[in-house]
Amino acid sequence: MYPRVILKETLYKKSQQKRRTSPCNYKERIFVLNTQDLTYFEHRPGKKPTQKGCIELSHIKCVEIVRSDVPIPCEYKYPFQVAHDSYYLYVFAPDNECRLKWVKALKEATQNNSLFLKYHPDFWGEGKWRCCHQTEKLATGCSEYYPNGGAVSSKPLPPTPDPMRRSSDPEDRIVVALRNFSPVEDTDLPLHKDEEYFVVDSSEPNWWTVRDKDGNVGTVPCIYIAEKLSNNIEKFEWYNKDITRTEAESLLMRENKDGGFIVRDSKHAGVYTVSIFSRAAGTNGEKHPLVKHYQIKVQREGEKVMYYLAEKYVFSTIPELIRYHQHNPAGLITRLRHCVTRNVTDSRINELSSDKWEIHPEKLTLSEELGSGQFGLVWKGCWNDQQVAVKTVREGFMSEEEFKEEAQVMMKLSHSKLVQLYGVVTQRSPIYLVFEFMENGCLTDYLRARKGNFSQEVLLGMCLDVSEGMAYLESSNFIHRDLAARNCLVSEDNVVKISDFGMTRFVLDDQYTSSFGSKFPVRWSSPEVIKFQRYSSKSDVWSFGVFMWEVYSEGRLPYDTRGNAEVVEALNAGLRLLRPRLCPQSVYELMQWSWKEKPDDRPSFAQLLHELACLEQEP
Ligand code: ADP
Repeated sequence: MYPRVILKETLYKKSQQKRRTSPCNYKERIFVLNTQDLTYFEHRPGKKPTQKGCIELSHIKCVEIVRSDVPIPCEYKYPFQVAHDSYYLYVFAPDNECRLKWVKALKEATQNNSLFLKYHPDFWGEGKWRCCHQTEKLATGCSEYYPNGGAVSSKPLPPTPDPMRRSSDPEDRIVVALRNFSPVEDTDLPLHKDEEYFVVDSSEPNWWTVRDKDGNVGTVPCIYIAEKLSNNIEKFEWYNKDITRTEAESLLMRENKDGGFIVRDSKHAGVYTVSIFSRAAGTNGEKHPLVKHYQIKVQREGEKVMYYLAEKYVFSTIPELIRYHQHNPAGLITRLRHCVTRNVTDSRINELSSDKWEIHPEKLTLSEELGSGQFGLVWKGCWNDQQVAVKTVREGFMSEEEFKEEAQVMMKLSHSKLVQLYGVVTQRSPIYLVFEFMENGCLTDYLRARKGNFSQEVLLGMCLDVSEGMAYLESSNFIHRDLAARNCLVSEDNVVKISDFGMTRFVLDDQYTSSFGSKFPVRWSSPEVIKFQRYSSKSDVWSFGVFMWEVYSEGRLPYDTRGNAEVVEALNAGLRLLRPRLCPQSVYELMQWSWKEKPDDRPSFAQLLHELACLEQEP
């Protein structure tokens, strides 16, 4: 089927400035949006248009108008942005109507993608984001991204803010008064407990300017108000408005699902509570079901508002916090496994939709054995007319119940640098996991078999592939826990993809899971994982450093002259892997950065990806 053209028009584009030092220029291009990609062409009179760039729609993560007051040095003055992969494309339309038409069409065409939760409303320029002053190009956005709203409406845009008085409140933020407040100064506004107010300016750390329902504006003390995020969280299935603590308890008990949870309004205005059901809680070994309630705590640092349930895991929005705890208990009785809603039909739909992950065994044929992994045999197979790899899981080796629940989350993770999980066969034993087929097999074997034949470009490319996939997992708050070359696979066209993400959580064998076990991946583990089993994206970063080392040593076993206990000893003494002969100093510096003792001193995957991408562009 040929792609259908949706829009075609001449617009301007700004160079993507993939390198920090590359020049910034503006070019006239013919843009074509079709059902598969956004392509742009150069048109020179008398010549056929030549394609200058093409972005697959599935790679797009955000499309939005750019709100900026910088002068625009090209003829078209209405900018919008298309964030894709790790880049930002800025396009300029001749007028606002044209701009909104493109933004609307692009948003519609990408609405099912894995999109940003937050984006940058202003340009990136001169080494920083103009909106939030972050100096990392891949830094998470600073404003909530509404894929179905914002610029699509035909309302006129608000006036450009005065740059001297930076208001941090571009959207309608609502706060609720926690108690009454009587004005002290003429400029203050009285607060009435439980009433809602719009935030006008929150740039002062202690006194915010708010507007009441009658339009009166004045300052109020921050400690008397709490942010109400209902406009952000109401759309989420897990949010149950107007439900009491007792109703929540009986709803969760009735559903009787371990890890069933809801988010509800607390009895204190503007505060939210997460109620979680656990079947297995109890002291003295006996198990009895119970519901626990955790208040979502708010922490203010200047203008920044952060949320947390368990002290150490702090997030800038409630949806981000919930998403994190869907993968990690991190101090809760259990992680948030099932979103429960009061609407019975909704929860039934949820249950039914889980069927779509189930692959019918009759539709699957197994041909040859590919290898043997820690879970069991791996087969080549065919499903839906495509080649697949089928992992069979040895009975008793994996916590099947837990896996079945988690498989749904894992199948939703989708990225060109992750080995896609297509589905599972759970109705009979042993269970099967059906994955994207990777012609060139496991990366360790691939490196060893082709030793001596890799160019610098290819080795760096492997690190870039994996850093891209890991940056995606990091942005999805998903921890791999066992990143290593043996858990990466190589496709037919030599792209390296990450496999087995999160799988170690379901392994029941102590030899794999205890850091004292003989099969525990000590050589890839950070000190805090070895000592306290404290996993995080930063412990994945440590493993990624070891992964890069494996790539540049063409598949050597890390610390191959030492046993596991000696590796731990060496790490405790501050020793690190040496630079492999093929590894440039610039890449070795990234490895050393990834092996900093303290997790906070290590880079994020977003930073690593950026640094590696810069190295790739260097001559
Ligand atoms: P486990 O994770 O259970 O240890 P592995 O992922 O190591 O299993 O798989 C064992 C072998 O099976 C690998 O070395 C590889 O050769 C093959 N294999 C695994 N997954 C795939 C896949 N998606 N495509 C092709 N081959 C695969």
